[in-house]
Amino acid sequence: MRIAVIGAGPGGLYTACLVKRLRPHDVVEVWEANAARDTFGFGVVFSDGALGGIEAADPALFEAVTAEFARWTRIDVHYRDRTQRNEGYGFAAVSRHTLLRLLQERCAGLGVRLHFGTRAPEVARLRASHDLVVAADGVGSRTRARYAAAFGTERQEAGSRYMWLGTDRPFDALTFAVVETQHGPVQAHAYPYAPGRSTFIVEVGDAVWRAAGFRSAERRPADPVGDRDGIDEVARYFSGLLDGHALWGNRSYWGRFTAVRNRNWSHGNLVLLGDSAHTTHFSIGSGTKLAMEDGLALATALHEHRTVPEALAAYEAERRPAVERMQRTALTSLEWFENIDRCVGLPPDAFNAHLLTRSGRLTRDDLPAVDAEHVGRIRRRFADAA
Ligand SMILES: Cc1cc2nc3c(=O)[nH]c(=O)nc-3n(C[C@H](O)[C@H](O)[C@H](O)COP(=O)(O)OP(=O)(O)OC[C@H]3O[C@@H](n4cnc5c(N)ncnc54)[C@H](O)[C@@H]3O)c2cc1C
Repeated sequence: MRIAVIGAGPGGLYTACLVKRLRPHDVVEVWEANAARDTFGFGVVFSDGALGGIEAADPALFEAVTAEFARWTRIDVHYRDRTQRNEGYGFAAVSRHTLLRLLQERCAGLGVRLHFGTRAPEVARLRASHDLVVAADGVGSRTRARYAAAFGTERQEAGSRYMWLGTDRPFDALTFAVVETQHGPVQAHAYPYAPGRSTFIVEVGDAVWRAAGFRSAERRPADPVGDRDGIDEVARYFSGLLDGHALWGNRSYWGRFTAVRNRNWSHGNLVLLGDSAHTTHFSIGSGTKLAMEDGLALATALHEHRTVPEALAAYEAERRPAVERMQRTALTSLEWFENIDRCVGLPPDAFNAHLLTRSGRLTRDDLPAVDAEHVGRIRRRFADAA
């Protein structure tokens, strides 16, 4: 079988790698518009219980990735000069750059053909020349847009704005911080992902963003930093939390989270995967894991079904319920953060409790438990193929 993958993010690369592990004779080709070492963002967080299937599918890759993990067990809430420390959680994070490098190396070792710095050929041509085309081209997928009616795409922009930044402030917990300005609250979500490196996402309601005088900077593709004035302004708001440490961008600009849903995940021999199929708000940190789990489900479905249409139906049937559940959880979380001003003003203990339970609706029980039987099945499938 000949398989074309558009996009070398975590979803596209992991799919390519697992298809080659299960079906070494398939020709798998990946196109990535960016250079191999160029990527957006900083670290990505995983809730550590959720990696069972990924471990079973490729233990060598799993070991290489987890060796790079920053791990922690606390959620800290900085609010009104108090820091509430909440113990008993399990999180891990890795630099997106490192994750992609390890996936690229694994793909290359397995014989995947990788084309970096190269936009994928026109999708109609790929569909004619390949048995299957995987659109793993991210939230703004042009492939999906081209067949939007067939996929039944819905896109909904959040009201608040965010910027994805990094810092050398070494956080040792998943950290939420609220700064109360005269215009309203500005909040940050931060967590470590490597020694001396943390992700720092700032989020602001639209009305506060405007009143505080933030502006959308013109995008300058050649500038590796992004909106320098905006970043300086955010650093001023969070100077207390940053404690003298730097805040930096990686092509960072103010944006709005876009919720993506599709009525159908495939159209003929073209299939959506990862953010092109579905997105979840960053406050529950699961988009990367979901994209990789999609790759695992697609690779095993292709291995276990005789025809591409059967495999695509099985892939969607397996993934849609888990994804929709996470999207519901993410929507609850997004709405809580969009309406944070309703809770700002509560005493610190009450604010902390609200944030952790997202008004009683989002609890740790909402996070998926590891299904040991499912993990065992994956381990056997990949062991048989090896
Ligand atoms: C602020 C923020 C914070 C986040 N934090 C987390 C987190 O903590 N944990 C987490 O799990 N997830 C997080 N996410 C989500 C995560 O980044 C995505 O869910 C994940 O990257 C999806 O992977 P993907 O492979 O589907 O798409 P992407 O990673 O977006 O990869 C798509 C790739 O396709 C390429 N491409 C696009 N068009 C073409 C083309 N025509 N030809 C060739 N290449 C093309 C792009 O250059 C890109 O490299 C966050 C997202 C944001 C915005």
